[in-house]
Amino acid sequence: MARVNARRVKIHRIYTIRQLADLLEVTVGTVRRWCRLGLPCLTDMRPFLIVGRDFLEFHAEKLARKKTRLKPFEVYCLGCQAARSPQPGLVDAEPMDSTRERIMAICPTCERLTRRIIKRSELRKWGVKYGFAPSIQEHA
Ligand SMILES: [Zn+2]
Repeated sequence: MARVNARRVKIHRIYTIRQLADLLEVTVGTVRRWCRLGLPCLTDMRPFLIVGRDFLEFHAEKLARKKTRLKPFEVYCLGCQAARSPQPGLVDAEPMDSTRERIMAICPTCERLTRRIIKRSELRKWGVKYGFAPSIQEHA
């Protein structure tokens, strides 16, 4: 990701792709690329909308991943600024889009909520490791 000033983005604001691009001084194409890379984008209506919080999470995770290589089953805690292995029972997952899941886990050190995006194909392994039942309705 280009070096952007993420502090300009407000958690509770909602942006169009154009507004976010202007705010961060990147092109509209760059924001669209982030959406393809996992930035959640509300596409039910036009113009497409991006929630500030979603951008900040996406941005933080990208920066973290650049600095810290997460091992399997680790999450990155923004509070500790470190990779952590959560406790079984304090991990859950929710679908993010058609191919990915968002892992949510409590940091064992600071008890902050951490998130990690994984491929849906890895979900079962995470479920076994951390004792949650993946809520995928594969045959629904
Ligand atoms: Zn922590």
